[in-house]
Amino acid sequence: MRIATITNWAYGATVLLTVMSGVTMLLASGAEDRERAAVEQRARFDELTSTLRDDSLRMTEQARSYAVGGNPAHLAAWNGEAGRLKNVEERLSHLKDTGALPSELTALRLGLHWSDALLDEQKAAIDAMSAGEAGTARKILFSNEYERELDRIDTQVSRFQFLIDQRTESAVAEATKATRMLRSMSEVMVGITALLFLCVLYFILKQRILRPVVRLSDVVSRLAAEDFEVPLPELGQVDEIGDMAQAIGIFRENGLERQRLERERDTDRSMRDLLSRMTQRLQGCGSTEDLVGVVARFAPEIAPVFAGRLYIFDERRNSMTEACNWLSPHDSREEFPPNACWALRRGQTHRPEGELIDIPCAHLDGPKYHRPICVPLTAQGETMGLLYFELRDGADEDSANPAGKYVEMLAENISLALANLRLRDTLRDMAMADPLTGLGNRRQLDAMLKTQTIEADRNGLPLSCLMIDVDHFKRFNDEHGHDAGDAVLRAVGSVLANATREEGMAFRYGGEEFVLLMPGFDTETARKRAEKIRQKIFELKIDHHQKSLRSVTISIGLASTPDHGRPDALLRTADAALLRAKAEGRDRVLVANIRDTTSAAA
Ligand code: GH3
Ligand code: MG
Ligand code: MG
Repeated sequence: MRIATITNWAYGATVLLTVMSGVTMLLASGAEDRERAAVEQRARFDELTSTLRDDSLRMTEQARSYAVGGNPAHLAAWNGEAGRLKNVEERLSHLKDTGALPSELTALRLGLHWSDALLDEQKAAIDAMSAGEAGTARKILFSNEYERELDRIDTQVSRFQFLIDQRTESAVAEATKATRMLRSMSEVMVGITALLFLCVLYFILKQRILRPVVRLSDVVSRLAAEDFEVPLPELGQVDEIGDMAQAIGIFRENGLERQRLERERDTDRSMRDLLSRMTQRLQGCGSTEDLVGVVARFAPEIAPVFAGRLYIFDERRNSMTEACNWLSPHDSREEFPPNACWALRRGQTHRPEGELIDIPCAHLDGPKYHRPICVPLTAQGETMGLLYFELRDGADEDSANPAGKYVEMLAENISLALANLRLRDTLRDMAMADPLTGLGNRRQLDAMLKTQTIEADRNGLPLSCLMIDVDHFKRFNDEHGHDAGDAVLRAVGSVLANATREEGMAFRYGGEEFVLLMPGFDTETARKRAEKIRQKIFELKIDHHQKSLRSVTISIGLASTPDHGRPDALLRTADAALLRAKAEGRDRVLVANIRDTTSAAA
């Protein structure tokens, strides 16, 4: 109920009670008037009756004085008095006018009759006196009978007064009782009005204003301190304070919303910072291994509710192979063919679980999936890998959506970095590869030799080097033409590449010369391999322009560490051995000897 309604009701009740109290006061005052009127009426009756008694006594006195002394002055006075006396009905009518009851008038009428009878006797005595019968006159006026009649008048007057007194007393008592009662009622009503007023005041002040205001003020202070989690008191008031509580509630809701947005913005900013730091690190990566390390470090920070795997596409095996994982994913296999993933098939993010019905990827195991997300890593339409995420055990489902947004950004950055690495590799390959045979060129050999000798030194493992030269190749060119010579070089290059696919590396050193580096091969193992290669090349069947070319032979000089000295002189030692092979008749494998070693060291 609104405070205005309560105060209106209270005001109405107060006015009603005040009116009632006023009416009661008026009624009390009426009762008082009645009481006063009764007392006044009695005083008037007293006066009338005492006149009646006094008249009788005074006239008796004058008649008796005349009868005793015969003074005509007394007679004149008596006559004067008798002349003024009205008859009984006249005197009674006056009493009737002043409100005497018929029973009271009957009593008085009797008294007046006695008074008239007394007057008749006085008159008889005066007449007797005037006739000179003084004795008769005195006999009449001083007889016992006359005295009794005087007493009768007195008795009747007393009786009348008694009746009047009785009535007046009861009227006064009644009026007093009514006055007292009405006054009490009026006082009670005034009391109730005051109490009502105080109650309403107390209720409004304490219950409806003070208490809610204190509670709301507590809430407002906490809101001012940006504590928007403060619970709102449930006032349930439909009044101004209820409106205020509602407004504070809206303010609180807005504050909560603002805090949520600020939290989101802060998270977003820190995520973008993290992503940008990751991008910088990715740009500095020189190899896929570096990139994998960066992803494994940053991915769990950027999407902490997701466990994940980074897959890199292995062209040779046509499979997506796990490069790293974080936060222990368990639904997706470590290796799978690209067509097992819907994201790779469609070239866009695939989330098989969520609000929409979808089909899970075939690389997922388990009867129940943990909100998997597959994001293809592509650049210029070429698939390079896959970023896979799944919700961690016990992770909050609601937090998965915002984290999902960063997953896409993460994938974009990794895709770019992978594309850069690939481009760099391509450029390097182009710079380091021999265009005719596809083998590494001399520059690559130099770089590789350095790293391999360092590795060999560090690991204490042997490293063998084969220097290969096609025998009499100038002659072959001369016989079959330069193009045929190129075909032979390509075929030789392919044999060497196959021979070193699993272990070792092949390079075109220049012209018709090749070098093989075989880490972990000691002299004897390398020699056996060299023999096999020599044999294979001799057995090569090369067709050129629908013509079979004759076979070619090669000479090989072999040097190994640690058998033939320091790794840095390995190439020269092998070359010295090759020279000897040429000198000794070609088409052979010669292992370096001490002379080769010293000549190389010189
Ligand atoms: P030897 O057995 O002593 O090595 O005799 P050789 O004729 O093979 O050696 P030489 O150094 O005298 O000749 C090398 C020849 O290889 C000269 C050149 O015509 C040929 N050659 C070098 N590079 C290429 C190439 O890229 N294509 C072709 N077709 N021939 C090449
Ligand atoms: Mg040569
Ligand atoms: Mg040659």
